[in-house]
Amino acid sequence: MNNLAILGGKPEIGYKLPDVYSNSGRNVGEEEKKELIEVIESGSLGYLPGKKLKQFQNDWAEKFDVKTAVATSSGTAALHTAMIFINVGPGDEVLVPAVTDMGTVIAILLQNATPVFVDVDLYTQNIDPSDLERKITEKTKAIMVVHLFGYPCDMDSIIKIAEKNNLLVVEDCAQAHLTKYKGKIVGTIGDVGCFSFQQTKHITTGDGGMVITNNNNIRGRELQLCADKGWPREKYRDHYFLAPNYHMTDLQAAVGIAQLRKLDSFIENRRKSALALSKAIKDIEGVVVPYDNDDNLHTYFAYSFTIDPKKFKIDNKKLAEAITAEGVKIFPSYLPKPLYLYDPLLKSKTYGNTKCPFNCINYSVEANYKEGICPVAEEASMRGMFILWNEKISEDQGNDMGNAIKKVLTYYKK
Ligand SMILES: *Cc1c(COP(=O)(O)O)cnc(C)c1O
Repeated sequence: MNNLAILGGKPEIGYKLPDVYSNSGRNVGEEEKKELIEVIESGSLGYLPGKKLKQFQNDWAEKFDVKTAVATSSGTAALHTAMIFINVGPGDEVLVPAVTDMGTVIAILLQNATPVFVDVDLYTQNIDPSDLERKITEKTKAIMVVHLFGYPCDMDSIIKIAEKNNLLVVEDCAQAHLTKYKGKIVGTIGDVGCFSFQQTKHITTGDGGMVITNNNNIRGRELQLCADKGWPREKYRDHYFLAPNYHMTDLQAAVGIAQLRKLDSFIENRRKSALALSKAIKDIEGVVVPYDNDDNLHTYFAYSFTIDPKKFKIDNKKLAEAITAEGVKIFPSYLPKPLYLYDPLLKSKTYGNTKCPFNCINYSVEANYKEGICPVAEEASMRGMFILWNEKISEDQGNDMGNAIKKVLTYYKK
């Protein structure tokens, strides 16, 4: 029975699992088509004076019970808009977890501010509040938290630290649509929340993003202007400050409106199948399945579990290859290495050859990016096992995936 597929045996899963790159794992159809046709027939595809973008923003604001929602062209654009909104600039430091999508860090760098990397929890890979507190300096302006994989950060501790040090909190919820922390929806706990609708996220508009806030005038700026060239549209060609054009189009918004109506059911499905997988593998020695409970509700952008490398004969990269051969596409951890070890940071590959913001003409900031600054994040890359999740995976399929993983882990058990 232990004849592994990678050693020439029969794969445990003899069919193709749903994936997020086609309608096998996405739910895009008649509802989206109907909304889109209205936009096409109106001839107004942009956001001015289209109706769909305004509706999508209103629907999103209502769903999250916030005052303001501004749609953007991507999640990275949403995060950059948030940085502009809270008036982060050259010389400012922004605290950010060492494990996240590069988009989180790009948003900080595009303001010529300095990302200061904070270590993470070994199991959730979410920002570690005790390391966060240690890394605050007089230059720190804000904290960017990331609810990775769909599991919430320890927001009580983070908000407490932020209040004590007079810092604003931006929540990157790109992987955490409707995730709950102590019953509260993430993105509404800090000062600003950001979302992504890229192809693999809980809902998709192809690419796209959203920024939400309850306080539409932080540090003297209005959110909408931060994604619209600083242009107050009620005025004839005026620009209050430097800002990019990050509009979402009415075409994307039309798709977003239909997707949002299905979001609750998507999350219900994602949770059912993920919990079936957890049930199948939770008792394997050396495995820690994702935390999840009613208060801290995981919404499973991804299913990421942890292995104890000492319990297995081969490392997580080789285990991932063997599990993939059984028919479950799995990666050895979310990131192969923490973000500070990538070239934009490690080698200051930023604005042309200037190396700004690390070494600009008139100033330079200290940014000590090197191996070892976030040891837990580095360790996590050797322990993680990462599966991109979707709403079409059934409970039975979750269980099948569990059996495939169990087959491989049992075979390579020490
Ligand atoms: C996807 C993602 C982003 C960036 O979103 P894009 O839409 O791809 O620009 C940022 N942060 C996290 C945590 C993400 O998962």
